[in-house]
Amino acid sequence: MSQVKAYGAKEKDADLKEMTIQRRDTQAKDVKIKITYCGVCHSDIHTVQNDWGNAKYPVVPGHEIIGEVLEVGSDVTNFKKGDLVGVGCMVDSCRECTPCKDDLEQFCEKGMVGTYNGKDKHLGGHTFGGYSEEITVDEHFVLSIPDNLDTKAVAPLLCAGITTFSPLHHWGVKEGMKVGVVGLGGLGHMGIKFSHAMGAETVMITTSKEKSEDAKRLGADSVLISKDDDAMKDHRGTFDFILNTVPVSHDINPYIQLLGVDGTMCMVGAIEPLPDVHGGNLIMGRKTVAGSLIGGIKETQEMLDFCGENNIVSDVEMIDINTINTAYQRVKDSDVKYRFVIDMKSLRS
Ligand code: NAP
Ligand code: ZN
Ligand code: ZN
Repeated sequence: MSQVKAYGAKEKDADLKEMTIQRRDTQAKDVKIKITYCGVCHSDIHTVQNDWGNAKYPVVPGHEIIGEVLEVGSDVTNFKKGDLVGVGCMVDSCRECTPCKDDLEQFCEKGMVGTYNGKDKHLGGHTFGGYSEEITVDEHFVLSIPDNLDTKAVAPLLCAGITTFSPLHHWGVKEGMKVGVVGLGGLGHMGIKFSHAMGAETVMITTSKEKSEDAKRLGADSVLISKDDDAMKDHRGTFDFILNTVPVSHDINPYIQLLGVDGTMCMVGAIEPLPDVHGGNLIMGRKTVAGSLIGGIKETQEMLDFCGENNIVSDVEMIDINTINTAYQRVKDSDVKYRFVIDMKSLRS
């Protein structure tokens, strides 16, 4: 076991502060990673605030991890010392159930082990995430990073990237389709980039008029302001697919009305009860409201390779770890362009 420096919250709503955590010794299938960058996901904030009612303290968040391999176990075949690697939202699953065998570890019947706040079978207690100097992970859950991309801007792909790529991929987004992405934050800006790269007509649906120019620069063909009732009416019945990244409960009826016949809206943001859905909005047009959770390890690697081929990374604002609490407030204020990434050098110095 080794002790490493980390940043975490000791209790609900507490500011994040420096602390010390334990990491296990490298097992046969393990990869020990020196963390160089870690993205800041809104889920980190939800967990620190215990918004989902299942947080375990201290919480050391962080599941958009980039790093360098320090050491590998005797049975590791895919990685070696010095490799550039990534770790996303999961660090383990049973590997035996049907979803695991189908490369959908996120839906493991025994429950996938989250990178933070998961059950730690090695040390007991719960897992600690990427706001730390090092992490040790079974090689099955370690990703290879394309070497042509800006490393610090790759970090957010490990959660924001796969969470948006997977549903767009699953619902077959392609040229000829009209796709809406709701919410221009960490997830939303990746959704725009992927939808555009997949060839769809892409519309940014936002509450923030001032983000319009950015939305177009990121790949949106047009921008729809969701607070503008007339504009929302003009777009009614025209979308094939909508990816909804809004992080809080909200009335989804106005967005369902945007869908055309057989259209689907996939929810990835609000992991909580939603207000009533009017059945008529679904029945008229045979519409579907669906959901999606991150993506399996195989698909995450496919997403990273797709990003390598298409030169896609996240738009990041780099921060030092000691400004994390201010960054959290800015995310809550929808004031992030478009993902904070922590330079982990700032934790070491
Ligand atoms: P984020 O960076 O805070 O972006 C969310 C965006 O949604 C905001 O920038 C804002 O965009 C819009 N928004 C915020 N409050 C809103 C409201 N009340 N009504 C309408 N729009 C609102 O968050 P994120 O990191 O992208 O994460 C989004 C959500 O996805 C979080 O809840 C996170 O926990 C969840 N998540 C889910 C998965 C999954 O696997 N399903 C994975 C990762 C994260 P505009 O200014 O453009 O309106
Ligand atoms: Zn996340
Ligand atoms: Zn399983």
